[in-house]
Amino acid sequence: MTQDCIFCRIAGGTASESLVTETPDALAFMDINQPTPGHVLVIPRRHVQDIYTLDEATAAMVFQLAVRVAQAVKIALRPDGINLYQSNEHAAGQEVFHFHMHVVARYAGDRDRVCVFLQPNLPPHAELDRLAAEIRAAL
Ligand code: AMP
Ligand code: ZN
Repeated sequence: MTQDCIFCRIAGGTASESLVTETPDALAFMDINQPTPGHVLVIPRRHVQDIYTLDEATAAMVFQLAVRVAQAVKIALRPDGINLYQSNEHAAGQEVFHFHMHVVARYAGDRDRVCVFLQPNLPPHAELDRLAAEIRAAL
């Protein structure tokens, strides 16, 4: 647990988030930014800064949960596609330095391949909770 890391605080239950699902070692929660409905983050509970310090077992465990969540997002919200990605370091525009995978729901009308950073949309917490419940129901 790294005290000044927002994702460690979410993993430790001391920051508010809309949880989708959790395992003993990882969790999935709604990103506060929902440019299209269904943007979920998947993180290891333990603080891992980036892919350079990521061990293979943790990588496999996080990716497995990310795939499960991506399939549930597709079922629950019926998007036309899913992108699974992670950004690394400042040059990639990374904001949070706790390893995370983005599950991004894509819709046919999207003009851009990855729209996460182009049209920020910060819905109220109740909307994040509603989306999380729908995805959880599809898991
Ligand atoms: P990156 O730019 O890849 O580091 O992504 C960081 C992501 O974390 C962004 O999509 C943010 O919208 C998201 N984010 C930041 N703080 C929170 C938070 N407290 N709860 C949920 N998502 C967050
Ligand atoms: Zn952390």
